[in-house]
Amino acid sequence: MDKIDQNILDGLRSWVECESPTSDAEAVNRMMTLAETDWSGIGFDVVRIPGRDGFGDHLSIKSNWGKESSLSNTGILILTHLDTVHPHGSFGDNKFVIDGDRVTGPGILDMKGGAYIAYQALKSIVNSTDKPLLPIHILCTSDEEVGSPTSRSLIEDAGKSAKYILVTEPARDGGKIVISRRGVGRYKIITRGVAAHAGVNHKDGSSAIREMAGQILRIEDMTDYEQGVTLNVGKISGGTADNTISDYCEATVDLRVESTQLANEIDGKLRDLKPIQENTQVLIEGNMNRPPFSQTKESRDLFDMASAIAAEVGFDLVGMHTGGGSDGSFLAEKIPTLDGLGVDGVGPHTLTEYLKISSLQPRMNLLRKLILNLT
Ligand SMILES: [Zn+2]
Repeated sequence: MDKIDQNILDGLRSWVECESPTSDAEAVNRMMTLAETDWSGIGFDVVRIPGRDGFGDHLSIKSNWGKESSLSNTGILILTHLDTVHPHGSFGDNKFVIDGDRVTGPGILDMKGGAYIAYQALKSIVNSTDKPLLPIHILCTSDEEVGSPTSRSLIEDAGKSAKYILVTEPARDGGKIVISRRGVGRYKIITRGVAAHAGVNHKDGSSAIREMAGQILRIEDMTDYEQGVTLNVGKISGGTADNTISDYCEATVDLRVESTQLANEIDGKLRDLKPIQENTQVLIEGNMNRPPFSQTKESRDLFDMASAIAAEVGFDLVGMHTGGGSDGSFLAEKIPTLDGLGVDGVGPHTLTEYLKISSLQPRMNLLRKLILNLT
């Protein structure tokens, strides 16, 4: 392994071994402290934004250049998150295992690897005579994996002074970059019925579970692969006892959709669900959590520039569409955005999640040159 790879891996190791599941604010805060120390160490101004609602702190990190210039309102916003989906101990003692070109570890791909190469790219800029023309603002957030409930407003605020947005989510499918994403909706469906004894007065009851079963078929039938709409009922619970007709049932729905128009259409259909049986009610909570992110002309130009740089660095940058949501979705329709600029690897959110060592330097160089070339 060459020396630069080894350096990156040594630094990344400390970030990956510091486990930071979204639900454990203290653990996420330990990770934020590590990142804060690293970023301050290369001369960036770090402001720590205290966590709320049980989530960890966020970091707002700014370059010390560009403040005085008239360009200070038009910088590059880099979005990273340092929480992971993995509960403590998921990887046992194998929190950072190198095997050939692969390194496995909790959140190494999604997205500590990406967050770390952004840090390395800026460190290498700081240590060189190259100077970016635009100020840099990096947001490190603590709650992306649950839909960014406490960071969304920070991201939207930071977007007001951003000319470009770069997101270090992992690359997909062998190095591809994300140029559009489906919107994500999260809903809870509740059915209410009438309880009764299953043996004594069965016919007086009206089962909330039976009602839900019918509603689930209606909901999942709204899936339309051709139009890019999928609905999944991922969790369901209800009932109190084997011999009681249930008066309550609830289920969650995950909606993925290509366009805002389709999002509104499906949202309307869900809100319009009517009871199938007598003496039951259907209630719905929730909404679109992240809007669809489709490529604008400005994002297309940004992608073209990035792919020219990638060609110089020595790889082909391929744009792709994904069904996953990210923080890049919040502003992509207003501000040119490139997502999936993190490291290349396989298996995000799984126990076999790994990054490819051979992607570290090319991806870091792409970020570095992109930051230097954007005007
Ligand atoms: Zn992520």
